[in-house]
Amino acid sequence: MIDSLEFRTSVNRRASTFKIATGSSDTEENVMVKVVSGDHFGVGSANPSDVTHETRESIEAFLAKAQKKLVGTEEDDPDKLHTRLDSIADGNTAAKAAVDIAIFDLLSKRDGKPLHEFLGGDRKKMLTDMTIGIESKEVTVQKAMRHYKAGFRALKIKVGLDLGEDVKRVAAVRDTVGPKVELRVDANQGYTVEQAIRFCQEMNTLGVVLVEQPVKAEDLAGLKKVTLASDVPIMADESVKSVLDARKVAREGIADMLNIKLMKCAGVNNAVTINKFAEAADMLTMVGCMGEIQLSIAAGLHFALSSENVRFADLDSHFNIVDDPTSGLRFEDGYLIAPEGPGLGIRTPFG
Ligand SMILES: [Mg+2]
Repeated sequence: MIDSLEFRTSVNRRASTFKIATGSSDTEENVMVKVVSGDHFGVGSANPSDVTHETRESIEAFLAKAQKKLVGTEEDDPDKLHTRLDSIADGNTAAKAAVDIAIFDLLSKRDGKPLHEFLGGDRKKMLTDMTIGIESKEVTVQKAMRHYKAGFRALKIKVGLDLGEDVKRVAAVRDTVGPKVELRVDANQGYTVEQAIRFCQEMNTLGVVLVEQPVKAEDLAGLKKVTLASDVPIMADESVKSVLDARKVAREGIADMLNIKLMKCAGVNNAVTINKFAEAADMLTMVGCMGEIQLSIAAGLHFALSSENVRFADLDSHFNIVDDPTSGLRFEDGYLIAPEGPGLGIRTPFG
């Protein structure tokens, strides 16, 4: 039974301002949750963003309601947990993710296993990319070199504001880091369908492995056109926020791949379901993130390690947070390594 649920918000500085096609930010807010059941406790966190239409205030308000709804209920069935969370309100997926992650941390701790093993996986590490926001060509190249020197062997370049400049920036990064570094590109809905098709032709010649969300989230017909026209696999991100969205995209061949983020899909439980759908439809997935601290990044990593179908990891936001209140992840030779202890294996201010 859930004995208590508490939460506290952490506001943290970003090492540098992050600019993408839809906006920019200097700080990150993450709301951390602790759930206690008997002798065990689990922790999770939520990061608000425009993508899920959540704010720090909306997350705190939702968690205050979740406290009343969940204390005294059973903790051992994630499906039932989500039914209870959904009965509070629709949406609020990051807030729900924080509770979901805390419950999975608790259940896997109680089982004495790292979360990825609890979920049935046996991998130990994932190559992660580092994302470069929209910058001048010169700054983009400098950052690519800095990340390469720091050990990253995959880079994700944000594009979508100026097609001509974007192509030049990606080409310059390819020149800088050489052919072995895996390049991924994310337009965050910035292009028209025609621009996206042209852009993908250019990306194909540069050996880019995937192009993420080239057109508007709602324009599924446009996204499908780009997918059909492009030789580079197209990944849906903002177009897929739920299990139902994933099912539609998979059934109708709207994209080649899916970007699964715990903040979008309300946590680990739905991430596992979406990934199973994708796998059945022959679609590889990526685990992505918002502006998250190590606590929820670890949950994304454990989820990714649970299935071979999660081929890509874009788990990099914590590298840019100067004063992360949570810790425990290791990064070596481009790989994020899961902590070996039970649960998430992450230290938090909750102890
Ligand atoms: Mg994206």
